[in-house]
Amino acid sequence: MQLDHPYTDERSWLKGNLHTHTTLSDGSQSVEDVIDTYAQRGYDFLAISDHDLFVDPADYRDETGLTLLPAVEVTADGPHLQQVGLHEAPHPDEDRHTVVATILDAGGIAILNHPKYQSHLEHWSAADIRELATVHGIELYNGVIERHLGAATVTDRWDQLLSEGHHLWGYANDDAHLATDVGRGWNVVQSADRSPAAILDALATGRFYASTGVSISAIVIDGGRISVETTNATRIQLRSDHGVLQQTVDGTAATFHVPEQLAHRSGHTYVRVECLGWAGERAWTQPMYLLDE
Ligand SMILES: [Zn+2]
Ligand SMILES: [Zn+2]
Repeated sequence: MQLDHPYTDERSWLKGNLHTHTTLSDGSQSVEDVIDTYAQRGYDFLAISDHDLFVDPADYRDETGLTLLPAVEVTADGPHLQQVGLHEAPHPDEDRHTVVATILDAGGIAILNHPKYQSHLEHWSAADIRELATVHGIELYNGVIERHLGAATVTDRWDQLLSEGHHLWGYANDDAHLATDVGRGWNVVQSADRSPAAILDALATGRFYASTGVSISAIVIDGGRISVETTNATRIQLRSDHGVLQQTVDGTAATFHVPEQLAHRSGHTYVRVECLGWAGERAWTQPMYLLDE
């Protein structure tokens, strides 16, 4: 059994949020105050992503130890999508294929925002995402949706698309508009280097986990064995295609042996680890793909 996965054995983790608004669009805090808020909470990196407006990290970098990443939330004339890594606001073409192509061609990261925003839960339907599956991933969790219509967590849609063979990383973001939105969802990358380039590379290639409160300290994969250590999980689960629960371990750490028969059973292509914590907190690893022997 071999797994194709993005992780290294590195134990240097950096925590960051990729989706934040300021008073330059519809947020309630200035850029400076937003940066201070995240710095005080011990974040390592942050992207300011105002609506269709590029805020240049270079204007703020000297004032903070946080690594600031360039980003924009493409908003007008269609469902929202995030570019991370580019120093520009893409034109919000109503044809989102054009926007995604522009971002990817320029070497940026494209993430589909809050797929279940609004009461119909179809800001980005499964059909929409299938058509744009060249993006890097989706917001598996978007914090601001906790206080809006819709569903903040979309693991069911993620599993549906992963099971069809679409490779999508799962990101967790605050989408902070108010100071009280800060600290709901974040991404933790494996990177010894705090430079924007190193963090962006980890975010683009899946070398991170998404969290709403559980901290993973190690993800070690050897053949078909997956060991996950956390500081505060109460239960750790191995899930496969369509989110099917394969194994559960209670406690802060778990070692799973991916069953050999899973690789030979038609329809099973990946596994992922989900860590459950106190009061509904979660951490999600990225999918790990079963390779044919
Ligand atoms: Zn949005
Ligand atoms: Zn937003």
